Amino acid sequence: MREDLLRNPVFAMAATQFDLVADFLGLNDELRQRTKWPKRLITVTVPIRHDDGSTKVYFGHRVQHHLTRGPVKGGLRYHPAVDLGEVAALAMWMNWKCALMDLPFGGGKGGITCDPRSMSMGELERLTRRYTMEMIPFIGEDIDIMAPDMGTNEQTMAWMLDTYSTHAGRLVPGIVTGKPLGLQGSAGRSQATGHGVAFLACRALNKLGIKLTDATAVVQGFGNVGSHAAYGLANSGVKITGISDVTGAIWNAGGIDTRKLRDHVAARGSIMGFPGAEPIDPAALLCQPCDILVPAATDMVITGENAPKLKCRILAEGANGPTTPDADKVIDARGDIFLIPDILCNAGGVTVSYFEWVQNLQRFQWSEREVLTKLETMLESAFSRVLVFADRNKLSHRMAAQALAVKIVADVKAQRGLFP
Ligand code: NAD
Repeated sequence: MREDLLRNPVFAMAATQFDLVADFLGLNDELRQRTKWPKRLITVTVPIRHDDGSTKVYFGHRVQHHLTRGPVKGGLRYHPAVDLGEVAALAMWMNWKCALMDLPFGGGKGGITCDPRSMSMGELERLTRRYTMEMIPFIGEDIDIMAPDMGTNEQTMAWMLDTYSTHAGRLVPGIVTGKPLGLQGSAGRSQATGHGVAFLACRALNKLGIKLTDATAVVQGFGNVGSHAAYGLANSGVKITGISDVTGAIWNAGGIDTRKLRDHVAARGSIMGFPGAEPIDPAALLCQPCDILVPAATDMVITGENAPKLKCRILAEGANGPTTPDADKVIDARGDIFLIPDILCNAGGVTVSYFEWVQNLQRFQWSEREVLTKLETMLESAFSRVLVFADRNKLSHRMAAQALAVKIVADVKAQRGLFP
């Protein structure tokens, strides 16, 4: 199994990052092994009937990296490239993210290998309900709580909640987060990740002494994270000059009106054809001059090849794992890019998911202002901890964030001891 996981490039990348951090922390071999490998790797088959009457069997996964510090928390992804190794890597990063943000959770991730863009609503509903049924022995509001990720949304969470609650014979709102407000979702959850990305990118601009209204940003991905990061930055006065999605990329040096783009995407399902910008090659978009580059789509898009060509001052990682270890080496050597690592930059989502879960357990609703204020306080505190630790130990921001997080998990493992 170790070798199977390591054959996946995304897991190999997460494992390489972990090994570097474990070396820095001087973890002994026992703690290193116990902290690195996932606790549970679950794979299920998910057979569903398609609208044309045919039956198709999908493969679904859930990886629970650790239950050491509390229930597992993490998203559910629908994408053609999903496999167990990628899900395990994302679960590991979630684990460090929860520790860094001081949330009482272990990390988890789920995924189904499918192409949601080619499936009808009925097919997606049957897929989600059957996957939830298959997962029932392994999940619960104090065991494992899922949330939206790429290719899933609040409707997916509503179907999961309904399936689980029907099985339980009572409403169990805490079984998922990122659900609709009417089903006890949290105010502020849908924009939380992108809001956090924009908040931290603005904090980085402050650190670099760049005025928000003089700054420009390029955003890769215009889904949940990318669109809300773009709105948040635009609301702060930053000019959004380039945006891409899976269908292509657009550019306007004078600034893209993100609200008009939202309406265009709602009508057309794609950013392409937007009258307020010109098409541009998606790979070239990443290397355009800008103050903030926000990868908010998929993993491993900043590589050893394009990292030397980046012309951004700040790399704000909205996506999970967008930067490969080779690219990290280039960025470290360049020394002119302020990196906000994924486990910090996109932690707004899991932090507000935590708030949603707490509200569900307490049967209590907080206002949007309360949620976003608490979120900003927690992000600000984690941002400061990472910068101080990096500065003190002469580390990159990624190493500093991961070292702080891995140490928290390893310390708790040592305190709990080895059972039996
Ligand atoms: P989403 O499905 O809502 O949106 C994904 C966007 O990326 C879409 O606009 C899609 O067209 C675009 N895209 C896909 N492949 C692309 C490519 N090759 N080039 C350019 N654009 C591409 O997903 P999301 O929830 O916004 O998640 C995006 C990333 O953020 C993922 O890495 C996810 O793990 C991470 N993330 C999401 C959350 C959350 O709360 N949703 C939280 C933390 C991290």
